[in-house]
Amino acid sequence: MSDDQFAGRRAIVARGLAAHKIDALLVTAPPNVRYLSGFTGDNGNLLIHAGGALLFTDPRFAIQAKQEAGCRIRISKGPLAADVLGTVRTLGLRRIGYDPAHTTCAYAEALKAKLPLRSSLEPVAGWIEELRMIKSAAEVELIRRSVETNSRAFEQAVSRFRAGMKELDLAAEVEYRMRRLGAEKPSFETIVAAGRRSALPHAQPTAAKIERGNLVIVDMGAFENGYASDMTRMLFVGTPPARVKRTYRAVLEAQLAAITAVHPGARTAAVDGAARQVLRKHGLDRFFVHSTGHGLGLEIHEPPRVGKRDKSRLQAGMAITIEPGVYLEDWGGIRIEDTVVVTETGCRILTPTPKELRVV
Ligand code: ZN
Ligand code: ZN
Repeated sequence: MSDDQFAGRRAIVARGLAAHKIDALLVTAPPNVRYLSGFTGDNGNLLIHAGGALLFTDPRFAIQAKQEAGCRIRISKGPLAADVLGTVRTLGLRRIGYDPAHTTCAYAEALKAKLPLRSSLEPVAGWIEELRMIKSAAEVELIRRSVETNSRAFEQAVSRFRAGMKELDLAAEVEYRMRRLGAEKPSFETIVAAGRRSALPHAQPTAAKIERGNLVIVDMGAFENGYASDMTRMLFVGTPPARVKRTYRAVLEAQLAAITAVHPGARTAAVDGAARQVLRKHGLDRFFVHSTGHGLGLEIHEPPRVGKRDKSRLQAGMAITIEPGVYLEDWGGIRIEDTVVVTETGCRILTPTPKELRVV
């Protein structure tokens, strides 16, 4: 990302201030600060007003902020709020927008208590997340690279798998491989769960051994250059029985149906519905207990949600996951997850890993 791209994003916000009936926007969520300034530290406040932007951070990040952020920087010795208010006063800003979802009560109260007399705090929810939903070509390329690294890490980890390996060891292998391949870190805690434990959609890896006859769920993602990837694949140790093969085929059919439903203008609920309808045909819909997918980018979970009750429509440039799954208590679970990007004509699947059940 170049300084120009961050400046361009800040200009969009500056131009939108009037429409949101505010004089300035105070951005506090780290992914939003990063999106608008390039600064990757975890203590930063960005104040965008019609005349420019100012990044507030503390002395620990002084060098980093200078290297990363293309806007003016203020290093605060004390709480950032005090300096933000100083600037609000100096510039004579009246209505300050902030996102209540990302601002702690304590922080909002600290601001309110010392706001200049004629200034006020105005809640503006989800504006930057809305901008972030549509990825630029450069962002899509970064997500694609993260996806690529994630898939390569999967291949390398699986090639080292041996029956009797612990879930924790396979998860560690996955995370070690992604880092060696260029990722900063996993984008969430790697899920490796074998046998009956695969029926827990968000299982944490344990010291349990992965044995012959086990179905294994591997849900993994990387952050590379700040952008997330997310993929789920299933392994089977030994020869899969008919029920495993049949259930796997049903989930795969549901996943492909949902991917086929992805195109600009489609309701996210319709994409979710496409997966659910296939599972219903196989009598499995009641075991599908989560949404079909979610947006991803600077965060592993970001708008839009691809769920039953979601109201959004897909637009070109959105990056989402498609991950239907079924979870049968005392038997096991099966989920298949890819990352896709909505294009002008449909969608592009970024995940290169083959989708058949991986027999190991
Ligand atoms: Zn996942
Ligand atoms: Zn996911």
